[in-house]
Amino acid sequence: MKNFELKLRRRNIPDADLIVDMQRVAKHLQSQSITKVDYDLHGNFGATTILRKFGGWNKALDAAGLIFTNRINIPEEELFENLANLWQALGRQPVGKDLSKALGKSKFSLGTYEKRFGSWNKALVAFVQYVGSPDAGAVADARVPIERDHNNRQRTTKKINWRLRATVLIRDSCICRMCGASPSKDSSVTLHVDHIKPWTKGGETVIENLQTLCSVCNVGKSNVL
Ligand SMILES: [Zn+2]
Repeated sequence: MKNFELKLRRRNIPDADLIVDMQRVAKHLQSQSITKVDYDLHGNFGATTILRKFGGWNKALDAAGLIFTNRINIPEEELFENLANLWQALGRQPVGKDLSKALGKSKFSLGTYEKRFGSWNKALVAFVQYVGSPDAGAVADARVPIERDHNNRQRTTKKINWRLRATVLIRDSCICRMCGASPSKDSSVTLHVDHIKPWTKGGETVIENLQTLCSVCNVGKSNVL
């Protein structure tokens, strides 16, 4: 009877245990994704249990931070850009639950960030280091491609890249500098980053010449100028 091993079915296995086991199987297979067949061969539970609990295999993979498309190795820059967009839309630092697929605001799941960076906090720290501190104006400026007009006057392109945009929004605490509106207080508010001196009038795309405005003030300002 020594080699006889019973595999008893456990009921109500916590989601976290299923996620951990899916991640273990993926690690074992040295893969960023696993199929139902992979899981049934190597998992401690059953693929059907996971399907039932998460409402689909792709949803389960997403919850586990595994990849369900053919997208392997999402570039770090794309993960950071998604965080910047989320930060702008929320008008505040995102928290883990803002990445919930149900909200549909984030391109990538919390699990994807946790898996890539070790934890959500580590992902946030890496993000802030990547975009640059709000005081690092010189650093942000250096990222803007230099472009000269025919008179050799303009140094920067009109387009504000997402890193510079994120730096300005975080510096301004995601609050409109004209009226104080913020999506963190009113979800209907949309924030823009605006050239204080218009680019068409020689204003440069540098942090000192950029400000956070809500869409209402931004339109109002264009009408006045
Ligand atoms: Zn405003």
